[in-house]
Amino acid sequence: MGGGANRLQQTGVVVPGFTDIVGQEKAIQALQQAYHAGRLPHCFLFCGPKGVGKFTTALAWTGLLLCRQPQYDRKATLTSACGKCDTCQALAKGACPDLLVLSRELCQYAEDAEEGSVSTEFRKGVIKEFLVSKVALRPVLSSRRIFIVDEAERLNTEAQNALLKVLEEPPHYCHIVLICARPQVLLSTVRSRSYKIEFSRLPHAVVSAELIRCGLEDKLAFYIAALSNGSLGLAKELAALEQAGVRLAEVNRSVLVGLVDGIQAVKLGLAEAIMGHIENIAMAWARIGVEASAREHRRNASRLMLSMVLLFFQDVLRFAVLDADSISNQVHLDLVTDMARAIGPSGASGAIEAIFRAGSAIDAMANERLVWERLLLQVWGYGRIPTFGGSSG
Ligand SMILES: [Zn+2]
Repeated sequence: MGGGANRLQQTGVVVPGFTDIVGQEKAIQALQQAYHAGRLPHCFLFCGPKGVGKFTTALAWTGLLLCRQPQYDRKATLTSACGKCDTCQALAKGACPDLLVLSRELCQYAEDAEEGSVSTEFRKGVIKEFLVSKVALRPVLSSRRIFIVDEAERLNTEAQNALLKVLEEPPHYCHIVLICARPQVLLSTVRSRSYKIEFSRLPHAVVSAELIRCGLEDKLAFYIAALSNGSLGLAKELAALEQAGVRLAEVNRSVLVGLVDGIQAVKLGLAEAIMGHIENIAMAWARIGVEASAREHRRNASRLMLSMVLLFFQDVLRFAVLDADSISNQVHLDLVTDMARAIGPSGASGAIEAIFRAGSAIDAMANERLVWERLLLQVWGYGRIPTFGGSSG
């Protein structure tokens, strides 16, 4: 297993309190209510988009469940762990034996891993070794033992079935938090045995305020907040990409210019240019140290490009049915105007639908280049913009 066991420990994190979590009041309230009700469910399912605070909340929640003297505010509402007791101190050192975190690094540590293969799923071997076989061990410092499974959407069916055995008859001290961006891929039997806590996308104003607080200039912060669609985690990664030299706004502009341009040669080269941008962004994403496989980086880069195009067509629609003031990205007003004249509101809604379909295709691991070529043809198929074939579409 090599370093696998070490990776289970949270390394030197400051254990967050509920007050450190931005914009998830409803989720936190639900947890506080569950705690005050006294009978805690053994399995929580934290679901919601990536990068909105699920993992941070899971750590805060764990800190509270393990702490000997949880803190309350004036209204007698649970707020944070004490930070002083044995378990709090052990957690802060990243050495609390009563917390086990199963994160994506473990995907490659399975005993049943095939030679040379890079797995991105949690297999049965991993769940058996790091969860099922550890459940029987009693807590050491606290009265509870907690397992956090990050990115539970990576559990394959056999792994979920192994987990199910624990969910059916958990020891009284055992609590599991499944963190999941796509709960629909979990078995219904796993979902039905879990207490669901929903995390929502954050308002753009919350994301931009947080970016500005981290030192980003206002204009860039607003742009990145819009692009990250309510995910503070993604927004911070995009800010890091900017700092690593990826000029997102320039890439964005060049793609939109290509979309609007009526010249055939530009059109023919656009899919190619987009593939180049995706490659560059994916490599930059790896350079800034975000852990994911090369394929995942490419897919994330592809999704980012789709978000750029989506925001644009949403503005085109707003411009076509409302007015110029209603568009969210004023720097593209000239391009929005041209596109709105060419395709009108029905073309814009058609394009938006096509972009959503392209997003699903990319999530389903379809060939990215084909997805983009198809999308561009569909978009150019609306209104008066000539298509690849040179006809007037
Ligand atoms: Zn404590």
